[in-house]
Amino acid sequence: MRSNELFIGGRWSQPSTDQRIDVIAPHTEQLVASVAAAAPADVDTAVEAARAAFDAGPWPRLDPAERIEAVRRLAKIYGDRRAEMAETITSEIGAPISFAQRAQVGLPAMMMTAFCDLADTYPWTEARRGMYGADIHIRREPVGVVAAIVAWNMPQFLIVTKLIPALLAGCVVVLKPAPESPLNALLLAEMLAEAGLPPGVVSVLPGDAPVGEYLVKHLGVDKVSFTGSTAAGKAVAAACAADLKRVSLELGGKSAAIVLDDADPAAVAAGVRSASLSNSGQICNALTRILVPAARADEFTDALATEMTSLVVGDPTDAATQVGPLVAERQQERVLGYIESGQREGARIVVGGTDMPDGIDCGWYVRPTLFDHATNSMRIAREEIFGPVLTVIAYADEDEAVAIANDSDYGLAGSVFTADTDRGLSVATRIRTGTFGVNQGYTMDPFAPFGGVKASGYGRELGREGIDGYTDSKSISVAAKGT
Ligand code: NAD
Repeated sequence: MRSNELFIGGRWSQPSTDQRIDVIAPHTEQLVASVAAAAPADVDTAVEAARAAFDAGPWPRLDPAERIEAVRRLAKIYGDRRAEMAETITSEIGAPISFAQRAQVGLPAMMMTAFCDLADTYPWTEARRGMYGADIHIRREPVGVVAAIVAWNMPQFLIVTKLIPALLAGCVVVLKPAPESPLNALLLAEMLAEAGLPPGVVSVLPGDAPVGEYLVKHLGVDKVSFTGSTAAGKAVAAACAADLKRVSLELGGKSAAIVLDDADPAAVAAGVRSASLSNSGQICNALTRILVPAARADEFTDALATEMTSLVVGDPTDAATQVGPLVAERQQERVLGYIESGQREGARIVVGGTDMPDGIDCGWYVRPTLFDHATNSMRIAREEIFGPVLTVIAYADEDEAVAIANDSDYGLAGSVFTADTDRGLSVATRIRTGTFGVNQGYTMDPFAPFGGVKASGYGRELGREGIDGYTDSKSISVAAKGT
C-alpha cells in the first residue's frame, strides 16, 4: 500500500506536510499502519486538478457510454481484489470478516455494476415540445467538482454510492475518507490508477475533520456529498449555504421496529438481529427502538434476548464471529456511557451490560445489550448510540406504536413486522422516514433510493435518484420554424 503518498488528481504525489494518521486495530489495540495525512495545501492541489479536469478535460465531455465503459473496467479490477479489500476493512475498523466480505465489499462490488446498468438506460437527454411550439432539449449535465466526505462504518459502501454515480454523470471527485478508515480508500485509489481515468478526475485525501471543513468551504467545489453524524452534517450544510453549494446529507438515525401483535417472535428476533447488530451495531439504519405490544411484550423480549445471547462475540478476523469490537476506544466509552444512562433512567438490562464480553480482555468491545421497561423519552431511545444496544418499548395499540415511531428527531429508516403484509404496508405509509422495511430491516437495494428526512438529512443515494443528485438539468429551447 502507498502509505507515504496521497492520490491527487489520479497520480501518487508527495504530501505537503509530514502529518500522519495512525490506524489502530480495534481488537488488538496495535498499530496496523501509518499513512500520510492530507493538509489544506493538498486539498488546494486536488481541487485545482479537479477544476481543470472538469472545466477543460475530457471526462465531462465524453459520451455517457464511454464513461460507463471506464467504470465497468474499474468494477472488474475491484471484483478481482475483493478478498484483499475485505481483509483491509476488517483490519482497520474491526468489522467481522464474514460481514466485511458480504456487505462491506460484496455489496459495493454489486453496486458498481448496478450503477452502470442504471446509467445505460438513464435519460441523459430528453426531447419535449414546449407550450409555444418550441423544441426543448433537456440535458442532464454533471454538477461539477464533487467533495465526497464519508464516515468509517461502511467505508467502501459509502464511497461507492457517491463516487460511481458522480463519475457516471461526468463529475470529478475529491474524496475524503474518515481518519479511522483510510486504508480501504487508498486501496481503491490503486484500483482507480489501474482503471486509467483521465488526469484530475479522482483524488483521495485521508484526513481529519478540519481537512473536511476546508474542503467543504473550498470555492472550487460545486457540490458536497456528505455521510456522517447529524452534528457535522449541520456544520456542512451551513458552510455550503454560505456559497450556495449543492449539498446532500446522509446522517444519523434512531429507527423503530414496529412489532405488530400478529408477528412471530422468532422471526422478529432474527430480523432485528440482522438489521441492527451486523457490523457490531454500527449501522446508520439499524432498528434500535423495538416497539412491542404490551400484551405480548415478554414473548418478544425473550425471543430477542435468546437471539442476542447466541451471538458469537470475538476476533473479527475469525469467520465465525458475528459481533466484533467497536471502531475506537472513544466509541466504546460512548456506548458504555449510554448503557449506564439507560440504567440510571430506569430501564432494565435483559442481557449484556458494561462488563467486557466473556473471555475477552483486550480491544474495544461492548456486550450486545438489550434493555426493556424503557420509555421513548429516555436518552437510549432518543439518541443514536451506534453500537450493539437495543431498547424495547411497549405500546398499547397500533396508533400509539405509530406515534412512538414518529416521535423522533431522526427519520432515516424503520420496519414493521406482521403476519399481514397489507397491514404492514398500511403502517409503512404512516411513518415519516426516507426508507422502510416490511418483515425485514430496510435492505439497501441498488435500484431503490436511500436517504433520510428530519435530522437524518436530505438528498437520495442509490437508484436512478442516486445519479440525479450529480446532475443538473439544462433546458435548450429551439424556436419553432416561422416564429
Ligand atoms: P462524523 O460526522 O464525525 O464524521 C464523518 C466524516 O465527516 C469524517 O470523514 C470526518 O472527518 C468528516 N467531518 C467531521 N466533521 C466535519 C465538518 N465539520 N466538515 C467536513 N467534514 C467533517 O461521523 P462518524 O462518527 O465518522 O460516523 C458515524 C455517523 O455517520 C453516525 O451518525 C451514522 O449514523 C452516520 N452514517 C450515516 C449513514 C447514512 O447513510 N445516513 C451511513 C453511515 C453512517
